[in-house]
Amino acid sequence: MTDASGTTAIVAGQPRPAALPVGPAGAPWSSGVRRGDDGAVEVAGVGVAELAADHGTPSYIVDEADFRARARAYRTAFEAAFAAVGTGVDVYYAGKALLTVAVARWAREEGLRVDTASGGELAVALRAGVPGEAIGLHGNNKSDAEIVRAFDNGVGRIIVDSLAEIDRVADLAAERGVVAPVMVRVTTGVHAGGHEYISTAHEDQKFGLSVNAASASGTPGVSERPEEAAAPGPIVPAGEHPAGGVPSSGTDSPAMTALLRILERPSLHLLGIHSHIGSQILDPDGFEAAARAVLELRADLAARTGVLVDEVDLGGGYGIAYLPGEVALDPERVAKDIASSVADVAARLGTPLPRFSIEPGRAVVGPAGMTLYTVGTVKPVTVGGDDGEPFTRLYVSVDGGMSDNIRPALYGADYHAEIVGRASEAEPVLARVVGKHCESGDIVVHQVMLPGDVRAGDLLAVAATGAYGRSMASNYNMLLRPPVVAVRDGESRVLVRRETEDDLLGLDQG
Ligand SMILES: *Cc1c(COP(=O)(O)O)cnc(C)c1O
Repeated sequence: MTDASGTTAIVAGQPRPAALPVGPAGAPWSSGVRRGDDGAVEVAGVGVAELAADHGTPSYIVDEADFRARARAYRTAFEAAFAAVGTGVDVYYAGKALLTVAVARWAREEGLRVDTASGGELAVALRAGVPGEAIGLHGNNKSDAEIVRAFDNGVGRIIVDSLAEIDRVADLAAERGVVAPVMVRVTTGVHAGGHEYISTAHEDQKFGLSVNAASASGTPGVSERPEEAAAPGPIVPAGEHPAGGVPSSGTDSPAMTALLRILERPSLHLLGIHSHIGSQILDPDGFEAAARAVLELRADLAARTGVLVDEVDLGGGYGIAYLPGEVALDPERVAKDIASSVADVAARLGTPLPRFSIEPGRAVVGPAGMTLYTVGTVKPVTVGGDDGEPFTRLYVSVDGGMSDNIRPALYGADYHAEIVGRASEAEPVLARVVGKHCESGDIVVHQVMLPGDVRAGDLLAVAATGAYGRSMASNYNMLLRPPVVAVRDGESRVLVRRETEDDLLGLDQG
């Protein structure tokens, strides 16, 4: 089976009608995945049997060339689209998806910056040699130590998330005689994820400050934003404004109040406005709606204070294919859509375009990764019978589970799995891949067709686990967290080693 890019997709071992079709880019597998004539799969030229023998199972396998190609695709697509409307863009790799020293270096080598959301993520980025100015620090509850560490390492932007944090960052910066570069994380009422987005007036979640003025007074209803913002006054670059300018009126939105508060603090430099609307977004409309709200807020601030902030960040959330037949968001298309829409909005508002930034995580590393497991217990379970026909579901247990991939248990995420160590002529059967944990919700793949002769000892791979697998892993049931193994040009290399019982017992002080 051949996809649009001419590569052979992994379904070659499943030529049966029950097998699912494969998406246009060989999705959901990384571009280095091939199934050979003997039915065994290799990744970037390394066979899965060799990977299992050298590194054990379960293991996270990351296709380095695929990661780099996706990082590059996002950067070049956005740079081209935003250059075409006369502005620039920076791409930050959202490190929380998967952050190791090597992964941070790959991102950097492909021209990306790195976003962090804790002291630990910051430590990994710094260990990788990412310069402070190319790092962002996020978080709705940063500690003083994290904030000071950002100052000490010259972190390029701290994304502030509350009025209290603005005061805390300002005070800490003033005490140290530094000026902290900050962006304000706002909520626009646009929530996106999956195939749809919804726009609501009110946000009921912990992140950000609402652009909706009604949020300040608690009045329900949608903010009535005039179509045309007031003509901006004389514009001075952010940071060159006289401190102590325009006070908040009390009916301002929380986002406007935050921006005004930052302008009052000489120890803060207001870089711009940040919006992250969700994850696994497959429809670009949500990005455009959020960008519009952010540009309107920027114009409102300019009209009020004369300060036109330089930067707007549109966050991450670019969706990928997890299942055969799903189609990932195309970076070129989404970049063009967003660029032309922000150009229109800025023209309507009469403001020059800011510099933009985006923060893809999943879209860069998700499809580059897969998890390799060994099958253990295989158990047919007869299901239903009351009002429907009873049917048999084959429970296929693997040597990991919710400790190495919490997403199915956490939010019902779907994945695709195949038997990758051999070919099978057996009729496919309805299967559920489960882990070895003491939870019935310990499901790895809810529903997948696997060859009916699947048996203990088979190698099974789950596709597109590169994002939020290792980074959300736990030691539940005292399982040892699997290694992260990079593959490239026929060679494999351990990026993060497998935990040992000594690692676990070393933490236990008796
Ligand atoms: C999680 C997150 C991202 C990355 O999201 P993806 O869905 O992995 O692209 C980007 N920005 C912020 C602020 C985030 O919290």
